[in-house]
Amino acid sequence: MKPVQKIAVLTSGGDAPGMNAAIRAVVRKGIFHGLKVYGVFHGYNGLIRGELREMKLGSVADIVHRGGTILKTARCDEMFTEEGQREAAHQLLDKGIDALVVIGGDGSYRGAQTLSKLGINVIGLPGTIDNDIVGTDLTIGFDTAVNTVVDAVSKLRDTATSHERTFLVEVMGRNCGDIALRAGLAIGAESILIPEISFDLKEISEKLLRGYHRGKNHSIIIVAEGAGNIWDISSELQEVSGLDNRVTILGHIQRGGAPSAMDALLGATMGSKAVEVLMEGKFEVMISYSNNQVIERPLEIAFGPKDSFDQKLYDLANELAI
Ligand code: ATP
Repeated sequence: MKPVQKIAVLTSGGDAPGMNAAIRAVVRKGIFHGLKVYGVFHGYNGLIRGELREMKLGSVADIVHRGGTILKTARCDEMFTEEGQREAAHQLLDKGIDALVVIGGDGSYRGAQTLSKLGINVIGLPGTIDNDIVGTDLTIGFDTAVNTVVDAVSKLRDTATSHERTFLVEVMGRNCGDIALRAGLAIGAESILIPEISFDLKEISEKLLRGYHRGKNHSIIIVAEGAGNIWDISSELQEVSGLDNRVTILGHIQRGGAPSAMDALLGATMGSKAVEVLMEGKFEVMISYSNNQVIERPLEIAFGPKDSFDQKLYDLANELAI
């Protein structure tokens, strides 16, 4: 007797490129092992309303290269209430579903944890562009978002050089500076402002002026959304340096687009691993990418102390942008 016969998969929180590859892997790997696999539409909202449909091989055809999520996603206030959690659990138990795969960020994992306390077997897959889940080196969607930022900044750079201006570019990441740091290092930004490290606009201004005086005709400063209000940073920097600057907020384009090969691979390998782990009868776990391996770890790791910040990468970015 297999530990699970029927499983369900949902996506929750912000969409991320590579989620579709993960859904496809869960569905196909499940069917490969003779399981019945259900898709839950519209995240926890849909779960509470019973929006479950059995997925067939063809249900996930032609999606591996598409951004977004075919299951749709949502934020769901009812999941914060006991009544909502009980109804969500009831929908799964009522349909005889043995385990739920949740693809989303740490908020979505918390939702999964509440279901686990109500007797539902759960497993979390890290799907968010922010790379802010504790316990995994990478989340599905992060690499694509970094590439999107690099591409957008290379276009902005044309205007920055032509007008000989400083550009402040705000990128996503909530309270995590990973998108800013990786993209900033990749494009050779003059400064990278992230929530993890306090910054001094006077020092940044001095660096801008040093560059200006040695003939640099433009500068790019990457600002993580969690680092502070970009409009305040812009006006303060203008005041301190006396140099004009322009603000660009990249916004939701960072969440869209075809997944990079890395994210499509992460989706495929993590989705597949989730099913393997369920088949071994292991629940309340998260799938992680750690030291180039896709592994399972206890779900509560995601709620523990934050992973240490990549100080070396930050220092390198500063050293290369003297
Ligand atoms: P992203 O990082 O892309 O924003 P996320 O999963 O962290 O993704 P959240 O908005 O934090 O996004 O959470 C998604 C949904 O998970 C919430 O709308 C809610 O339904 C559920 N959820 C979050 N936190 C909890 C919690 N503490 N208890 C129950 N459900 C929760």
